[in-house]
Amino acid sequence: MNSVQSNHQVIVIGGGLVGKAAALALTQAGLRVALLAQCAPAQSEHRFDARIYALSSSSQALLERLRVWQALEPARLCPVYDMRVFGDAHAQLHFSAFQAAVPQLAWIVESSLIERALDAALRFQPLLTWCESRAQALQHHPEAVSVTLDDARVLSADLVVGADGAHSWVREQVGAKVKRRDYRQTGVVANFRCSKPHHETAFQWFIDGEILALLPLPDSHVSLVWSARTEHADALLQLDLPALAERIEAATGGASSRQVGTLEGVTPAQGFPLALQTVDRLVAPRVALVGDAAHLIHPLAGQGVNLGLRDVAALLDVMNRKEPFRDLGDLTLLRRYERSRREDIQKLTIATDGLQRLFALPGGLARGIRNVGMAMVGAQPFIKRWLVSAALG
Ligand SMILES: Cc1cc2nc3c(=O)[nH]c(=O)nc-3n(C[C@H](O)[C@H](O)[C@H](O)COP(=O)(O)OP(=O)(O)OC[C@H]3O[C@@H](n4cnc5c(N)ncnc54)[C@H](O)[C@@H]3O)c2cc1C
Repeated sequence: MNSVQSNHQVIVIGGGLVGKAAALALTQAGLRVALLAQCAPAQSEHRFDARIYALSSSSQALLERLRVWQALEPARLCPVYDMRVFGDAHAQLHFSAFQAAVPQLAWIVESSLIERALDAALRFQPLLTWCESRAQALQHHPEAVSVTLDDARVLSADLVVGADGAHSWVREQVGAKVKRRDYRQTGVVANFRCSKPHHETAFQWFIDGEILALLPLPDSHVSLVWSARTEHADALLQLDLPALAERIEAATGGASSRQVGTLEGVTPAQGFPLALQTVDRLVAPRVALVGDAAHLIHPLAGQGVNLGLRDVAALLDVMNRKEPFRDLGDLTLLRRYERSRREDIQKLTIATDGLQRLFALPGGLARGIRNVGMAMVGAQPFIKRWLVSAALG
């Protein structure tokens, strides 16, 4: 017979960065939380993880509040002070932290570094139960919601937080509708040592419907994120690192080597299929969705995790302001969370999708229009400042 453990207030399902941050935030707020997650991967055998994130100041603020940022090894973090964007017909944009009067535009951080720091913080939480199991069934009861694990344990709580990624099982259980559009692109990621200093600058090239970014890493390294058409990405993923470096140089018309010199591969390439997903609701009775379970966007602006961590901050805020007579799964409360997230999610979804489509349009006229548009943005310090503040969250 199943054993029933009903002493939780929240069950967080999914232990990516967003799920672990949600579990930590809620348990630090004094809630009894069960987290269904695997431990973070050990430090990569390579110099850097393949998964690298550009984190905005809103993500930094949340991680600082959780006392996780302070535990990250400073030597493995790289600030971005400048960003240079190149259109596909000589248009250029330059964003600068100095001009925008902010300390930095973003921080470049390895995914597993943050996950390990989150794991370490979670292990010290007396109110947290960590289950290295997956959820298999979700059942609503009048006073609670219960989750059956793949090891046959049954947990129950007032609220389930679905942080189980783009193919969310929790979202399916509550019947939320998803619109998905495949970009028919794969994000090819790899890391390289560069022979010239990158001066903490991120570079992005729009090339015939594809987007190639080189993000700065510590000690003269850069991280590649190449959103390439699926067949092209498949071919890129077959290459060894020296051949991939040659393709980067060729695709950017030699600009990559003018900016950061020659590239020597340090982390093998990996590919991630890219899609857009919008979800019709973020909440259901006793359930809230966060992170990629709630929204999936193109990585061209490096905003997916940032959006997910802002979900966590908003959920925490709503729970902290809860009236004493409501329980945590009260739909009125959860709708406050949903409302508070709508605009941010919509804005970024529309902006990233719009840019992706604009640069995917074939033909000289489309190319002319987007490059004139870039030049106009570049000439307007006010618009540039607005774009920077939107990206900072
Ligand atoms: C190429 C690329 C580059 C990117 N760059 C950036 C960037 O620079 N900045 C940025 O902010 N974002 C970036 N993103 C987006 C970012 O990767 C995602 O938004 C982020 O990983 C989502 O985190 P998550 O925790 O919501 O989901 P996930 O990381 O997908 O985690 C979900 C977790 O849930 C678990 N799970 C699933 N089902 C169950 C179940 N039934 N029971 C228990 N557990 C379950 C999974 O095993 C997984 O561990 C990028 C994305 C790509 C593809």
